[in-house]
Amino acid sequence: MNADGLVDLHTHSDCSDGVLSPQALVAAAAARGVQLLALTDHDTTRGCEGAGRACVAAGMGFVQGAELTSLWCGREVHIVGLALDPGNASLQTHCAEVIGLRRARIVAIAQRLTRAGLPGERLAAQALEFHAPTRAHLARALCALGLAKDNQAAFDRYLKHGRPGHVPPQWPPLVVAVQRIVAAGGLPVLAHPHRYRVSAGGLRELVAEFKAAGGRGIEVSVTGMGPGEADRSATLARRYELAGSIGSDFHEPGLAWRPLGRFAKLPDRVTPITTLLAPMDTGRSQG
Ligand code: AMP
Ligand code: MN
Ligand code: MN
Ligand code: MN
Repeated sequence: MNADGLVDLHTHSDCSDGVLSPQALVAAAAARGVQLLALTDHDTTRGCEGAGRACVAAGMGFVQGAELTSLWCGREVHIVGLALDPGNASLQTHCAEVIGLRRARIVAIAQRLTRAGLPGERLAAQALEFHAPTRAHLARALCALGLAKDNQAAFDRYLKHGRPGHVPPQWPPLVVAVQRIVAAGGLPVLAHPHRYRVSAGGLRELVAEFKAAGGRGIEVSVTGMGPGEADRSATLARRYELAGSIGSDFHEPGLAWRPLGRFAKLPDRVTPITTLLAPMDTGRSQG
């Protein structure tokens, strides 16, 4: 479908590590003038039903999505799946497995934090209250206990690579994540390509493998991407015949650099992924 106004195809709710409920996320997007919204929580589609209903009520287009966490050559790579069927059995089995890995990782991190003299069990209990727990939940728990001043400080002091609470992630391979999205009828989109610490040649290899596995899109406009990075992403989109996607990667209000919605203007000769979304994918046709 064509969308000429504000579009946001990458957002999080409190079904993963966003802070707004799916309904509150839709209300915030509507207030910003977003016309087409995808919910893409980490490794879960649980919020899609509520967000879809709220979008219909608000007269907004909705795209059912998820952001699958994967590994490529030992690096964490995120694949956004758009217009997928949340009821697909292989996708749900996949998400359940990854959430199991997430929960085990939270416990392992908490054990390390305990060894570092922190109240690991309490921190883990707070994070594990959430369906798809992430390190962001642990960061918030650290803040709530007064052990860090904000999430960034919690990551810098305790959670990131080289810090006492770091546990290397173990996610399914990228190719498997792409296959699960395809099996669920969705469009796999390589999320925030500028964030992967690989050489230009390495990124081309990653994109080539993603495309060969069934990848259909790449983010060319996402929060945190500078103009040079957006150009590089657009070049990859043209070279590997991937559609361009746009989104905020919104997690919480108040982060001025991460507002909901982006204008749908894409670089020249990049096919907007919105043209690959059938109206039925957007939820507009639902009653
Ligand atoms: P996980 O998937 O459990 O590794 O958790 C990662 C989540 O934590 C991401 O989706 C981000 O929302 C957040 N995050 C990751 N790194 C940082 C960081 N350095 N500072 C703040 N938040 C972060
Ligand atoms: Mn996140
Ligand atoms: Mn991501
Ligand atoms: Mn995201």
